Amino acid sequence: MWLRLPGRAQPWPMTRTANRLTAAAPGTSGPPDAAPEASGSAAASREPARTVDHLQVGDVSVTRVLEYYGPADLTPADFFPGIPAHTWQGEEASWLRPDFLDGATGVVRSAVQTWLLRSEGRTILIDTGVGNHKERPYSPVWSRRNTGYLDRLAAAGVTPQDVDVVVNTHLHVDHVGWNTRLEGRDWVPTFPNAVYLMARDDFDFWNPANERRSVLGRGNQNVFEDSVAPVHRAGQALLWEGSHRIDAHLRLDLAPGHTPGSSVVTLESGTDRAVFVGDLMHSPAQVLMPDCNSCFCEDPAAARATRRRLLGWAADHRALLFPAHFGGPGALEVTRTASAFAVKGWAPLSRATHQDMTGEGR
Ligand SMILES: [Zn+2]
Repeated sequence: MWLRLPGRAQPWPMTRTANRLTAAAPGTSGPPDAAPEASGSAAASREPARTVDHLQVGDVSVTRVLEYYGPADLTPADFFPGIPAHTWQGEEASWLRPDFLDGATGVVRSAVQTWLLRSEGRTILIDTGVGNHKERPYSPVWSRRNTGYLDRLAAAGVTPQDVDVVVNTHLHVDHVGWNTRLEGRDWVPTFPNAVYLMARDDFDFWNPANERRSVLGRGNQNVFEDSVAPVHRAGQALLWEGSHRIDAHLRLDLAPGHTPGSSVVTLESGTDRAVFVGDLMHSPAQVLMPDCNSCFCEDPAAARATRRRLLGWAADHRALLFPAHFGGPGALEVTRTASAFAVKGWAPLSRATHQDMTGEGR
């Protein structure tokens, strides 16, 4: 009997390793946006930026559909209270600029995006962004937006009628927005033929009727009413518990901490592995500091434990990690030693650029 290592037989065709150990040499970072080579691959930087991009993981195709990329309107100190200030400053932060940190303003840069999967003949969306025309009195950056998200979905070859499955990794404002669209004065499901998979733990937590208290205050106000309840009323929500198999390649599991019902999609196809981790992390700095949460984590201890567990699984299985909000190439492979994790390389997707979203918004 011989043992076979789990995970992909061949290395991913990574664009370039980018972590603290291999960041650009001093003096090469330049101003943000003007020197994309500073933190992305030289090869990728010569390609035109795209808002839709594609890669294959086993028998499953994965397409990135951007809704937004740019400043997150949060300083790193506010976004990641536990990460030391020097992480975001000077040469130490060069590997984070410009994809994850705006060098001029010092604010965090984030993407809001959907991971579009085609698996076993079905079309699956993981997370649906912020949406258009929503009233967000306590999240003004996401209020009354008017973007071409559905046009970019169409550019990826998908009409709303084509979508078979929607996965909401959790029920925060920036993950359920396109669940619905405004028709007259009513919010209706954007994807009329889809089953929407929502963890019951999150559905119950965010349902105002249950009067649960969020540590986030009112930032998620209106979200359940305009983006979750209409789907449920239409009979299109499947509230799953514990674990849910989507198909032979894809499985949903609870990964609580960021929210009580936060979940991840694990992709296993042949020897290829990937895991779509939602808001398990918002910056690659958290790979190096996995005990540091974002300010949006409801249960800090559980979020830390879940992040360490999933980083470990991804490293051990050479799985591509797809966070919900990373700029740059959007997905990465991680590696670990006995006590630490590191970024091993980035997926061969083109880098999001700030200019992609110019002219859109409100
Ligand atoms: Zn989010």
